[in-house]
Amino acid sequence: MLIDIITLFPSMFQGPFEESMVKRAIDQGLVRVRINNLRDYAEGKHRQVDDYPYGGGKGMILKPEPIFSAVEHLSAQTKEYTWKVLLSPQGKTFNQAKCKELSPKKHLLLLCGHYEGVDERVRDHLVDEEISIGDYILTGGELPAMVITEAVIRLIPGLLDEEALHDESFAEHLLEYPQYTRPPVFEGLSVPEVLLSGNHALIKKWRRQQAIYKTACRRPDLLEKAGISEKETKECLDSFSK
Ligand code: SAM
Repeated sequence: MLIDIITLFPSMFQGPFEESMVKRAIDQGLVRVRINNLRDYAEGKHRQVDDYPYGGGKGMILKPEPIFSAVEHLSAQTKEYTWKVLLSPQGKTFNQAKCKELSPKKHLLLLCGHYEGVDERVRDHLVDEEISIGDYILTGGELPAMVITEAVIRLIPGLLDEEALHDESFAEHLLEYPQYTRPPVFEGLSVPEVLLSGNHALIKKWRRQQAIYKTACRRPDLLEKAGISEKETKECLDSFSK
């Protein structure tokens, strides 16, 4: 997989991409991540990338020419289709389902906006989709691009244990069951006995019930997608109230 990021602030990516999972995936050759400076695609002595909005108003808008030029140049470097994403608060909200959709793409391009955003022609005629990481406004698309890159990379086969991915929150639309580690008793607080029992069937059952219970309490909207019937939810909630 190749991930191309287009940004005006390439150095922002240095720390986060040189640690932990992203670094491991790069080192193992599972993914290539290229950070491309938008300014390199701007024309003229000042390599201007932004300009005033037509019609007036505060702030600057990223000009279309350098963006089209960068995307065309990077797309031409691979035979695979380049899936072009504009990071934008106006996009569809990013979640694990979207992450699963992006992870098999061979060439993913993430375009970071800045200032007041990008010329609307980029949105209408260049990108395949717009993705938001939540209903709030950030200064630029760099942090959203990091979030998406990290979440997508975690799903690349071969990087993480399949079983660990399967049990994680949202993987099967349920939140993850509670996890504990040593010591078995910490300041009088004990680890649930079943987890120390060595009985794998019982542990599996307990974990599923806990996952349903947690999801029902915190994210009841997910239960239907997870295929958990009202009957099963009620049985589970009843067993916890006893
Ligand atoms: N004026 C724009 C609006 O009201 O929609 C917001 C521009 S924002 C200050 C600058 C850039 O940050 C955006 O073009 C986008 O790339 C990025 N950005 C800000 N918030 C974001 C979010 N929640 N998700 C994804 N990208 C975001």
